[in-house]
Amino acid sequence: MGRTGAAGTLGYMLTDTAEKVDSVTATLAPVVLEDVTKRYGRRRGVPALDRVSLSFGAGSFTAVLGVSGSGKSTLLQCAAGLERPSAGTVRLCGTDLAGLSQRRQAMLRRQRVGFVFQDLNLLPELTVEENIALPLRLDHRRAGRADIELAAARVGLGGGQLRRRPAELSGGQQQRVAIARALITRPEVIFADEPTGALDPHTAVGVLRLLRGPRTGRRW
Ligand code: ADP
Ligand code: MG
Repeated sequence: MGRTGAAGTLGYMLTDTAEKVDSVTATLAPVVLEDVTKRYGRRRGVPALDRVSLSFGAGSFTAVLGVSGSGKSTLLQCAAGLERPSAGTVRLCGTDLAGLSQRRQAMLRRQRVGFVFQDLNLLPELTVEENIALPLRLDHRRAGRADIELAAARVGLGGGQLRRRPAELSGGQQQRVAIARALITRPEVIFADEPTGALDPHTAVGVLRLLRGPRTGRRW
């Protein structure tokens, strides 16, 4: 497992066991994991993550793909502060997450990290545009129409689609909504947990190409 993301690179995790990365070189990267171990439940058993050191650079997009149960979700959730590691440190924009309250962690995460969940986590009662605007709303930030349309356009959504509800869209389009929602805050890094899992191979290739596409600035 492991990669260090330069701006605009696409990373894969394809192995079935966690392999330690020896050095963290990019200490100024927005997300840095150092010797992160995660065990679920009681002390015994194989850890989901075993002393993983990794950094994710500004403007990087990281998609994890691979064997079920290899720790992909655990890795990204620890990196994004959604799960607390059993040992080791996770720094988000230089701040050790362990020292922050849940509320501060959530705020930092919403502003700096874009997360595309495997099961998308779209809210069915909200329209597409409301789903895309959600991270801004949660931070009491204004979600301008132009910003929403721009994020939607980047993933090929627009027009009447924005006023529909997720259930009225295809699986591939729903995934694009989830990606646009991750882009709306212009995060430092984007994580996608098996972004192609729910899609047929043809659509999956399209989504990956989309995410790897040209970037205009350092941030998304
Ligand atoms: P992946 O996303 O690659 O399928 P996960 O990160 O979900 O892998 O899981 C890695 C390992 O940790 C698996 O053995 C899984 O059973 C275990 N695991 C994940 N989440 C939990 C949990 N909430 N409680 C107990 N064990 C868990
Ligand atoms: Mg998973």
